[in-house]
Amino acid sequence: MNRELAAYSVHPESSLGRVYPEPQEPSQSGRNPFQRDRDRILHCAAFRRLEYKTQVFLNHEGDDFRTRLTHSLEVAQIGRAIARRLQLNEDLVEAIALAHDLGHTPFGHAGQDALNDCMKDFDGFEHNLQSLWVVDELEERYPTFNGLNLSFETREGILKHISRKNIRIHQDWLGLLAQRFENQLQPSLEAQLANIADEVAYSNHDIDDGLRSGLLEMDALNASELWSSRRQFVLQMYPNLEGRRLRHEVIRHMIHLLVDDLVNHSKQLILEYEPQSIIDVRNSPLLIAFSEPIREQVLELKSFLFNNLYRHQRVLKETQEAAAQIEFLFGYFLKRPHEIPAHFRQQDSQNLHRRIAHYIAGMTDRFARSEFIRLQN
Ligand code: MG
Repeated sequence: MNRELAAYSVHPESSLGRVYPEPQEPSQSGRNPFQRDRDRILHCAAFRRLEYKTQVFLNHEGDDFRTRLTHSLEVAQIGRAIARRLQLNEDLVEAIALAHDLGHTPFGHAGQDALNDCMKDFDGFEHNLQSLWVVDELEERYPTFNGLNLSFETREGILKHISRKNIRIHQDWLGLLAQRFENQLQPSLEAQLANIADEVAYSNHDIDDGLRSGLLEMDALNASELWSSRRQFVLQMYPNLEGRRLRHEVIRHMIHLLVDDLVNHSKQLILEYEPQSIIDVRNSPLLIAFSEPIREQVLELKSFLFNNLYRHQRVLKETQEAAAQIEFLFGYFLKRPHEIPAHFRQQDSQNLHRRIAHYIAGMTDRFARSEFIRLQN
């Protein structure tokens, strides 16, 4: 057993393994299964495409805004920092964080909603399931199998949620992953952590990007307790601080507060439930969690961002135009399936709608836009 890891963490030697058995890593290179998973994710094409996919602000709006790629890197950074403090498996958290958004469509949430709409009579479009599809099927990098053949624990972290209907439909594919949901077991603490690190990352960087864009204003943000308390705290130390230095300092303190609270409260929960192994973790309630007062502040901040940023007229206008482009592309390929790239045409096991969804979900913003322009004329 690795002495640095707590008993309740995921230990590489007890991994439930890969779908296609592979030889152990030669000992001289010394990578454990989750380090190998991380490296496979980092080298795959879907990961590189995250650079040109919208987080909130469309890619062409400015070079300083987050993209899905930089978002994923921030999730990995925050997740790893917390994992170290809780003696969880940092490599596994990193692998999950880097892969968690691989299934996102172009154009952010509007793109996803549009694709879900196109698929409504064909089992819908779920981005978590799509991320799993990418790593299990769509990447073509190995001679004898599809996908990246990642470890069970990494795949479990990627498939955060799934609808009951899709569990039933994909029972054979999901195997053990489906059983977790059916038996209402919790995922590993590493998966729970990657999920919350996602929330910490986007809540904070969306404030940063929102302020940078001018769509949010610092004074309006005082409606959020989390923001206003940290702003006051910073201004006590630096009364004359303003502009971007103030913004960054307040956000830094918000992240510190959230991370400290998460670590302390999770430690308490772990003490209370005393998980001695991953099996105990699966049978406990969620153990990686904010304290109640901070959880409420996070919810308040998220609803502020929802109403004032994600639903801001300018964001909506941009993304709705983009969503219309996705609907156009979907309709176009439905009529002309022979124009889908061969790689997607050949997946005989899937219906045409699903194959088109796979193709469009993999597109970057700029590729979807240029295809829209090219095919419209
Ligand atoms: Mg995310």
